[in-house]
Amino acid sequence: MSDCLFCKIVAGEVPSDRVYEDDQVVVFKDINPKAKVHLLVIPRIHLASLEDLQPQHDQLIAHMMRLLPRLAREQGLEGGFRTIVNTGRGGGQVIFHLHLHLLGGPDLRTF
Ligand code: 5GP
Ligand code: ZN
Repeated sequence: MSDCLFCKIVAGEVPSDRVYEDDQVVVFKDINPKAKVHLLVIPRIHLASLEDLQPQHDQLIAHMMRLLPRLAREQGLEGGFRTIVNTGRGGGQVIFHLHLHLLGGPDLRTF
């Protein structure tokens, strides 16, 4: 989608601090981190939210979920991590390109 910020990040038109990418996803640091580690895992294709998911996306979603523990380990989060997916305005979603928040670090308990 041409007017989607995260599509622009995927395309490299908007800069981001990428920590991982493959043919299906891009992972980058949240610009306003809520914890020591705060990553966003997004699909390369534009899906607005969990509401857009169809059976053909099952493999993509599984891939995104299975990446999380690996990313957490690479970020040094040995003790665990938190995953948040805001869906819709009522769920606190601000950017309407599906993303998984991966949060972790010593201060996480206070959030
Ligand atoms: P939401 O509330 O939609 O689940 O979360 C959107 C997240 O995207 C927020 O945590 C916000 O800080 C992050 N964000 C918004 N704009 C940018 C940006 O331009 N670059 C990066 N790296 N993160 C962004
Ligand atoms: Zn998008």
